[in-house]
Amino acid sequence: MNRLQIRAGRARGAFSDAERAAFQARLLAWYRANRRDLPWRRDRHPYRVWVAEIMLQQTRIAAVLPYYRRFLRRFPSVRALARAPIEDVLTQWSGLGYYSRARCLHRAAAKILALHAGTFPRDREAALKLPGIGNYTAAATLSIAYGVPLAALDGNVARVLARLRAIRGDLREPRRWRRLGSLAQHLLAPDAPGDWNQALMELGETVCTPRAPSCRACPVAKWCRARANSLAGAIPAVRRKRATKRVSIAAAILRDPDGRTLLVRDPGAHDDVLFSRLWQFPAIEARGDPMAQLAAHLRERFGADEIAFRALPPARHGVTYRNVTLLPFLACVTELPRVRGGRILPLARIAELPVSSATRKLATAALTIFKS
Ligand code: SF4
Repeated sequence: MNRLQIRAGRARGAFSDAERAAFQARLLAWYRANRRDLPWRRDRHPYRVWVAEIMLQQTRIAAVLPYYRRFLRRFPSVRALARAPIEDVLTQWSGLGYYSRARCLHRAAAKILALHAGTFPRDREAALKLPGIGNYTAAATLSIAYGVPLAALDGNVARVLARLRAIRGDLREPRRWRRLGSLAQHLLAPDAPGDWNQALMELGETVCTPRAPSCRACPVAKWCRARANSLAGAIPAVRRKRATKRVSIAAAILRDPDGRTLLVRDPGAHDDVLFSRLWQFPAIEARGDPMAQLAAHLRERFGADEIAFRALPPARHGVTYRNVTLLPFLACVTELPRVRGGRILPLARIAELPVSSATRKLATAALTIFKS
């Protein structure tokens, strides 16, 4: 390496070889002594690692754990997942949110079965061609399951690296993100890429947290420029949040004398973000008088006349940038409207179908009435 290359490397925040070796040894030792015992760390089968990585996208570990165990009991292999009806896959996913992940997982399993004999591909380019797999998921899965030397850069890792090298500004800005990607690859421990990627993620999740990082407990504090310059609280720069939109959704929970209800998947009564194209109660976005609006909706779409609703207490539901108020309206009817493509089932058992957590909340509001 000539002087110019060394200067360029240093300017990008690269470590010297000796520094890097010491840094890797320190962080790996810390990780191996402190890592949390998680099921996808115990069994590194590529299928299991891949499912975990998909579930962990935008979802906390504690929330993922019960879903992960249930999902793998029900679909223990790529073949089992590929051959299952999508309805079953979505039912197992119900409540975890971001349902496009489950749809992609299912389509990718079919592709893996057809093109790779049921084994998750080892090759990055082949992995990137699968639905739902981007740079991060490919690098994380391949490094953990197969030991492929690819650095996985997500928000946690980016924050740790930015602090270590005092990189200021919006980390998601494309040029900065690329720089962080190069730094991540430069630091990767080539003999243990899976442990290395997980070590950086673990550090970001448990020590170098977004607010108030625990610098005193940090195993790599001596290499950290943000700490040395009292910048840990200022990196990363706070991103401007998208303005929150307030939405009110009024839903009709119809109940017949046998305790059954009606669920639909009708685009006319559908809210893409909230109900995720899953089964839901007939619903509308409320703008004026929600009860009158709901009655008109049922009349127009299902020919249901003279339904007497009872308003139940509203429930709050946050979805991405939206602040949703759910307005449940309960109606006891002698007979449920027969709707083409609708499903009639006991109100207490709607979780047997793929439903979102908003629909579960609405059902719980109604069931509480009958229990009290
Ligand atoms: Fe993060 Fe503090 Fe460790 Fe730096 S010293 S990496 S800011 S926890």
